[in-house]
Amino acid sequence: MTPDDTQILGRCPDCGERIPTAWLLVKYEKDDGETGIWAECPDCADVVAPE
Ligand SMILES: [Zn+2]
Repeated sequence: MTPDDTQILGRCPDCGERIPTAWLLVKYEKDDGETGIWAECPDCADVVAPE
């Protein structure tokens, strides 16, 4: 755990890079009521679902 973990959305499923909240693109509600997010990976320059 690092102090800036609250600024991280999650990790890129493709490259494992930590994705900062500033890279958040879309928040949406899934069918099951959970919040899903799409963000751009700063490393892949691609849109991913952080995990
Ligand atoms: Zn990536």
